[in-house]
Amino acid sequence: MRSLIARPEARPKCVDAHVHLTKWWPNISTTGYRPELDYSLHGLLSEMDSTGIDRALVLQMYLAPEEEGLAEGQRLYDDSGGRLLPVATIDPTQGEESFASSLLRLEQEERLYGIKLYPGYRPFYPHDRRLDPVYELAHRRSLPVLFHQGDTLEGRGLLKFARPLEVDEVAGRFRDVPFVLCHLGNPWIDEAAELVYKNPNVHADMSGLLASPSSPYFQRSWELALQRVEEVVVSTGLPSRFLFGSDWPLESLEAAVGLTRRLDLSDTDRAALLGSNAERLFRLAR
Ligand SMILES: [Zn+2]
Repeated sequence: MRSLIARPEARPKCVDAHVHLTKWWPNISTTGYRPELDYSLHGLLSEMDSTGIDRALVLQMYLAPEEEGLAEGQRLYDDSGGRLLPVATIDPTQGEESFASSLLRLEQEERLYGIKLYPGYRPFYPHDRRLDPVYELAHRRSLPVLFHQGDTLEGRGLLKFARPLEVDEVAGRFRDVPFVLCHLGNPWIDEAAELVYKNPNVHADMSGLLASPSSPYFQRSWELALQRVEEVVVSTGLPSRFLFGSDWPLESLEAAVGLTRRLDLSDTDRAALLGSNAERLFRLAR
């Protein structure tokens, strides 16, 4: 006999692979997706709840003093009941001695889900040999390394450091380290797609592709982003290597996750992009 009680519909797990929440974010009222944004733990968790996002990777900003940024990430993990997962950063241009102590701090930090590097915002290439100890640490700890890619929010950045092609060499030298190209390499989306296609350890997130909601072209930018994400997933044929990410507070979670849910892919592939790829890559079941 069939049960009359309807089973709750299984909703695919949803993980945002790219958000920022830090007191070191500059000019939030002008850079956030809306001026009256509630840029706080409460604001982020409320948006996650209303959009069905279970967990989010919080990427430490390069502007935060590294030690304090690390502690901030750990606090957010505790205060969110484990929903906000810390990803640390390290800057290889800070000078040898201070780099060595930053590295030691990362080594000793037990609760870490990845390491975000900011080539472009900081003047170094991903294949800079000074980073080798970071990649070795990532290998030992099975941590993904995320690269800022493409456009820099501030004019002082140097784009030559932030092209996906610059990741190719290091992806080959450290085959066991999973790498993530943030923002699909935008505007070098084709380059990012090729990196993913060629290197089995390279992934890409789709964060930060949308225009500001105040732009008259917001809706069209949303449709264009939808089309571009579909193109790279379909043309590489590798849905297991792309991750939903918003870059909150730059994009609203509603617009970003709405885009991922609208992708013209199979249910399984859409669920992979929404959450299961991130769960596997960042080892969220541990
Ligand atoms: Zn970001």
